[in-house]
Amino acid sequence: MRYIIYARKSTEDEDRQILSIEAQLVELKEFAAKEKLEIVASFQEAKTAKEPGRIKFAEMLSFLERGKAEGILSWHPDRLARNSVDGGKIIHFVDKGYIKALKFPTFWFEPTPQGLFMLSIAFGQSKYFVDSLRDNVKRGLRQKVRRGEWPHQAPLGYLNDRNTRKIVVDKVKASFVKKSLEIYSTGKYTLLQIRNFLRENDIRSNTNRPISISMVQNMLTNHLYYGAMIYKSEYHLATHEPLISKKLFDKCQEVMSKRGKQKEIRKHHFAFLGLMKCGSCDCSITAEKQKGHNYYRCTKKKEPCREKHYLREESLIEQIKSFLQKVSLSGRDTKKILAELQKDELREKEKSVSIVQNLKVEIVEIETKLEKLLDAYLGEVISATDYKARKEKLLTQKIELGEKIRDFEQKSLSWLEPAREFVLSLNQAQKLLTSKNYPEMTTFLKNIGSNHILENRQFRFEPQNPYDLVAERRVPRREDLTFPDWCTRQDLNLQPSGSKPDTLSS
Ligand SMILES: [Zn+2]
Repeated sequence: MRYIIYARKSTEDEDRQILSIEAQLVELKEFAAKEKLEIVASFQEAKTAKEPGRIKFAEMLSFLERGKAEGILSWHPDRLARNSVDGGKIIHFVDKGYIKALKFPTFWFEPTPQGLFMLSIAFGQSKYFVDSLRDNVKRGLRQKVRRGEWPHQAPLGYLNDRNTRKIVVDKVKASFVKKSLEIYSTGKYTLLQIRNFLRENDIRSNTNRPISISMVQNMLTNHLYYGAMIYKSEYHLATHEPLISKKLFDKCQEVMSKRGKQKEIRKHHFAFLGLMKCGSCDCSITAEKQKGHNYYRCTKKKEPCREKHYLREESLIEQIKSFLQKVSLSGRDTKKILAELQKDELREKEKSVSIVQNLKVEIVEIETKLEKLLDAYLGEVISATDYKARKEKLLTQKIELGEKIRDFEQKSLSWLEPAREFVLSLNQAQKLLTSKNYPEMTTFLKNIGSNHILENRQFRFEPQNPYDLVAERRVPRREDLTFPDWCTRQDLNLQPSGSKPDTLSS
């Protein structure tokens, strides 16, 4: 009998693969010699067997199909097939007689029904093996981190050492990384300048890409450089050689957070741009700076516009705040309402559980009826036409009940999330009142309404339901702040309600 040797690499990792495949071949050749097996061909697979579609595997099958060999020699069934498709193919080939012998030094097999059964179990186990391997890889990474070793691609300035599997200082690039961090810490250089510095010195990323601004940012914030690491948002000490001191790193973070703020202010110089349109000609509103103040005005891009006024930003903010005041909800009240909502949620859930239970009982009743109907038909008590008609009626009922159950389970609580979001947004309005985060104010206004207009120095817009209801209420004075009367389920249900809702007592 002529045998084929089939060997497959164990992991994606090159170094380990070669070792492992060589070890397999040595063992298999020894085994063949000992068992006096005639080897006519040898197939070595580079690809993992987790996915179907291995090239050498297919070549081997075609080799067997053409009758050039009758047996396979492999290290273990899990080398031969690590997914059920491949496993099925092998078993199919055994059934068809293309494969007359399978030899594994580690696994005993005979092409008998029992042998095939054992083999299919071994293939099945190898699927399990793939799954547990995946877990092991993850576990391995965690262990690596615990030992203080970075488990992934080395950052710029370091290299992955293939032998020790640790990261080591990249003698060429490390000094440039160090220099970058040093000059950045002076606060006199921007990310762009650092990027240009690295580019001018022909420094590329470890994956040989040109250095980008975001790479520079990652570099300046990477804890690995001073000998620590963040892995899955957890802080660990690392064992590799640091490039810089913690002190220098901290200085860089300081500079970055200061710059970040400056940038933010500059970027949102005109915080309310893009929010409003001109009430007279529908053109967008632009902004400009005059004598230290921001002014908003019509761009007048379409036709001659009657609008002559400029609105000072301070005045716009005042107007926005007076609106926010109307829809704002204190933290204490927010908590109270959220608690009420939670109670509602529980009540609703209980209610829906009991309704669903009743519906399920009805379904069981229908099933009993169906059985009885079938008995009646089999006992020739009723005719076939009668049986079909009644059966159809019962089945439609059953389908309808099933749909009701699904509707109920989904729909019953659908109002809760929007209600919660709504309450939280009112609380956000309260927070915005005292904040200087004007871009966030713009976002808030865009989210809760439409048609934001600037006309005759007045800002107005259409709050969507239910914010319009809330905005209409009288602004209470701080001392007699009672629980607002709009915050009942009906309103929160985002349904406009004509009736006077109940008040939640505080
Ligand atoms: Zn205009």
